[in-house]
Amino acid sequence: MSCSCFGTLVSRRKKGEDQAHQDLEGHSLVNTRNFPYNELRNATDNFHPSSKIGRGGFGTVYKGILKNGKEVAVKTLSAESKQGVREFLTEIETISNVRHPNLVELIGCCAHGTNRILVYEYLENNSLDSALLGTKRTIKLDWERRSAICMGTARGLAYLHEELVPHIVHRDIKASNILLDKDFTPKIGDFGLAKLFPDTITHITTRIAGTTGYLAPEYVLGGQLTLKADVYSFGVLVFEVVSGRSSAKANWGGMQKFLLEWAWQLYEEGKLLELVDPELEEFPEEKVIKYMKIALFCTQATASRRPMMSQVVDMFSRDIRLNEKELTPPGFYPDSGGPSGSSSLNKKSLESSTSCQMSSVPTTITQVTPR
Ligand code: ATP
Repeated sequence: MSCSCFGTLVSRRKKGEDQAHQDLEGHSLVNTRNFPYNELRNATDNFHPSSKIGRGGFGTVYKGILKNGKEVAVKTLSAESKQGVREFLTEIETISNVRHPNLVELIGCCAHGTNRILVYEYLENNSLDSALLGTKRTIKLDWERRSAICMGTARGLAYLHEELVPHIVHRDIKASNILLDKDFTPKIGDFGLAKLFPDTITHITTRIAGTTGYLAPEYVLGGQLTLKADVYSFGVLVFEVVSGRSSAKANWGGMQKFLLEWAWQLYEEGKLLELVDPELEEFPEEKVIKYMKIALFCTQATASRRPMMSQVVDMFSRDIRLNEKELTPPGFYPDSGGPSGSSSLNKKSLESSTSCQMSSVPTTITQVTPR
């Protein structure tokens, strides 16, 4: 085939694809809105830098105001989608079916040329990491708010893991993915997005290289992704909420440690309260200790020993005594440098984590105390 003939074919195919894009742009969907590109351009003042509210691994987020005055968060996906427009829209329709008070609501989407855009409800109090760990901590997060954030996040995850069919493993539970509405109700963002990208370029892959301290060891080392990887990340998040500190390595008592390593050391010394955020003036000591112990159950090295999220909700909300005899050390990355890290992450624990079943109920964890 001559070059020019090949060129004509390519350009014809390109024209066909462009036509398909145009046909599907703004085309009505069953569960969600398919926005025309121009509407989102107007809503964000032509994606003006002053409308930008953040940037994450998936792309840039803008604040937008729709024609009806509704505020929205407009996320422009930067990595090239693995899918054509039709597949993208189908995937989005599936995610937009997923509704829960503790999940960020997806309002709509847009596919325009190679652009893929998602439109979410706008959350007034930004993300948990800026409220909790930001340099300007203007928001006061008292214990009531912090415990409600742990509980709400646990409920949202339990819904994704156990109520939804097929279930969704979030893969990226961390403080910047928990958004807070005007009443500080936590809402989990970014669920279901990994499917939109080729496996090789999801930002999760990048993050494994970046090691932030949220990822379960079996996921980092063996790529085994089960619900229990989310449970691990959730446990790390609870420690951040209680301590007001980042999970990343920091100076603890003159040594570089991950928050989780430090937590385990303090647990063994019976001094967990030393971890509590100094900004928390008043808090119920027993309850706060219980939250931290639940977080330790969630971060155990062996995935199958970690509770399911519905059990975590129960442990938070009911008068349940934790069976600490069954608690085993948390797992870390081998490079975390912690003594328990390397020893707790042996081949055996990884093997047993692969055999983790969704239905495996760790009877070892809880015991209900009659009131
Ligand atoms: P990553 O993509 O690596 O998970 P991230 O969670 O920080 O990182 P995004 O989810 O893209 O990235 O969000 C970037 C920032 O945009 C958030 O930290 C938050 O400040 C803001 N943001 C995102 N979604 C909303 C929303 N629905 N309402 C208000 N602000 C939002």
